[in-house]
Order: sequence, then C-alpha cells, then structure tokens
Amino acid sequence: MIQISPDNVAERLMRYVQVDTQSDPTSKTHPTTEKQKDLSKLLCGELLGMGLTDATTDEYGYVYATLPGNSDKKNIPAICFCAHVDTAPDCSGTNVKPIYHRYYDGKDIVLPDDATQVLTIKESPYLKQHINHGVITASGLTLLGGDDKSGVAVIMEAALYFMQNPAIKHGDLKILFTPDEEVGQGTVKVDMQKLGAQFGYTLDCGDAGSLEDETFSADAATIIISGVIVHPGYAKDKLVNALKIAGAILDALPKNECSPETTSGREGFVHPVAVNGIAEKTTIQFIVRDFTLAGLQQHHERLKKIAEGVIARFSGATMEYKTTEQYRNMKEVLDQHPQVVAFAEEAIQRTGLTIIKESIRGGTDGSRFSYIGMPCANIFTGMQNIHSKLEWIGAKDMAKAAETIVHLSMIWEEKA
Ligand SMILES: [Zn+2]
Repeated sequence: MIQISPDNVAERLMRYVQVDTQSDPTSKTHPTTEKQKDLSKLLCGELLGMGLTDATTDEYGYVYATLPGNSDKKNIPAICFCAHVDTAPDCSGTNVKPIYHRYYDGKDIVLPDDATQVLTIKESPYLKQHINHGVITASGLTLLGGDDKSGVAVIMEAALYFMQNPAIKHGDLKILFTPDEEVGQGTVKVDMQKLGAQFGYTLDCGDAGSLEDETFSADAATIIISGVIVHPGYAKDKLVNALKIAGAILDALPKNECSPETTSGREGFVHPVAVNGIAEKTTIQFIVRDFTLAGLQQHHERLKKIAEGVIARFSGATMEYKTTEQYRNMKEVLDQHPQVVAFAEEAIQRTGLTIIKESIRGGTDGSRFSYIGMPCANIFTGMQNIHSKLEWIGAKDMAKAAETIVHLSMIWEEKA
C-alpha cells in the first residue's frame, strides 16, 4: 500500500507558494523574471538534501534531477515528471499568505485580508468532497499559486517517498521543473539531451483522477490588407481604405458559431485578437484552434474565403493570408505510444480514484514536449479556481497525485 501524507504535501505547497515566481509575458529574457530562480534554487537544494546527487539548476531557471533506477531490468524507459515553477501574470503572486484549513467544516471561507473574497460550496461544489479534510487557500490579496506549485510539491513528495522506500522498484526517473509555462515559453530553453527522458508526465491540472491527453492544435493567421491611397481631397472614386475593409471582414465573420464565445467541448474556433494599421495597409491577427488538423485546415479555408469575398467588393484592394504554426494536439503523438496514457490510467486506478479523461481547450507544456521528443500526458494535482484570489486546493488530492507518481513508476518497471 502506497500512502503519502496529505499534511506533508500541504506543508510543502505552503512553503513554495511564499516564493514569488510570477512570469511576465512582455519580457524578452529567459526566464522572463529573475525571481523564478529563487524557487528553482530552493528546490535544487532540497533535492540535493534528499540525496539526488545530480540535481542542478541553470541560468534559465530549469531544475534537472535524477532518481536513479534500482531495478535489475535494463530496458525500462526513463520517465520524466514535470511541473512549472512560475505563476500566472493575471493575478498578484507577491506576499502569498497560504492558510491551511486543516479540518474544513463545509462553511463559507471568508479570506481574512479581503472579506469580499468568499469561497463557497455553492460556487465551488468540488469543495464538498473535502469536508473534514485539509483545504489550502490564499488570504484574499493574491492567487495561491497551486498552479503549478502543487505539481512541484507533489513531485518533491514522491521523490522523498522513493528515497525513503528503496525497496520500491523503478527505472530512471527524471525530475524537471520549468520556468515561464504561463507565458507559453516553458520549453523554450529546455535541454532535452540533458534531461534524457523518453516519456513524460506534467502534473498540472484539476480534479482528482483527471488525466489529459489532448490539447488544441493551434495556428495564428494574419490577413494583410492593402488599400488604394490617394490624397483625401481628390480621392473621389479612387481611394480604397484598408481600415474599412478590415471592419467589413470582421463583420462578415460567423456570428453564432466558430468563435470562443459560442463554442465549448470539442468545437474549434477562429478568434480575431488584434487589428493594426492605417488607411493604406491594415493587418488583422487571428488565432485558430481545433482538436484535429483537418478541422484547423477547414477554419483557415473558410476564413480566407470570407476575407476574399469582402476584398472582391473593394476594387483595387488586395490581401495576403499568412499562417504560423503555434502548437499541436499531443494526442497525435500519444496515440503512437499508447502505453503513456494506459499506464497513467492504471496508476490512477491503483490509488482508488476514478479516471476523468479531459481535453484541454488550450495548450500545455505537455503538447510542446510531445513534439520535441518526449510524448507527455498531463496528470491532476487537485488545483481549483486557478489564476484567481479564490484559488484553493485539497491536501488529499495532492497526496493522491503523489501516490499516482509512485504507482506509475512501478508500472513502467513491472511492464518492462
Ligand atoms: Zn499550470
């Protein structure tokens, strides 16, 4: 029986969230904020203290460490467990004061530093499952930072468990902590050679039992509109204003479908995010999302056709349509290595939880890792109401996530 103490993981999380690690989407440096390294250094020191003798952290804020395999089997793939140290730019992460509600009683939780911030079962029904168990919140002025310090705490607690229970057989386990996930740059400076893992798991999602093996495939699209420019005083029947064409294209987009505000589940969308320009030349930038590449292609074709239809009404105007790949659905890679998800399902079941399979309407580090040589699925930590002052997490969910890591490592050994 693998059993990890919820109190111990909670204590770890509370320590890590007090280090400010907010990332910055406007920064051009790596990491985007120097302070993320404060947590990386702390974690590296703790890993060395546990006996992971190769633990290192680098100039970019990554932490790498190995739990060396102890099995006689030599063909076990090296498995990576990964979490990100940064917190979201959307909500302050400075002076986080975590509160451990050791025996949550089911009543409303009024956060002490801002009494307007109230956590209720009515608005967060998942709280109900944590009555009489430990719940961690922030104090009302900041986010908690469970996204993704719960993942960090869970991996650290599992590492400690392996060090204290050397009879548990496993292959090489690689620990990776990344900066800048929240600003989409978590894998930019990662050294996959140094990491040396064949398959991976990020610990970076919600309800206990959740397993995510699918993200959007994502492109950017840019429409560049060229008008016809003439001195406005003598422009009759000659001038064609690119700004007005941009307006017409936006107006011609579907109104009740195919947008973020009208889709959910497995539906994709086309979403204008910026318009820049002058009367002579205007660009519209879009993001395009779908779970399949065929769907992504259809969105592009439809958008291009709509724009061309509008352009045709303005004599002399021209347009250019450009696409840029952003990231790809990790399922396309994971389907070629079905054991990654199958073993995770079995590990979750061994902890006594029911699996919740989810598709992510966004991207993750896992989708990027899957395309740079490390097929990667995403496992729950319990995090709730992320990127907000009402963020919270149940300690028993984190303990189950740590137990999942232990079972998963054992399963890779057993099946090798
Ligand atoms: Zn995250």
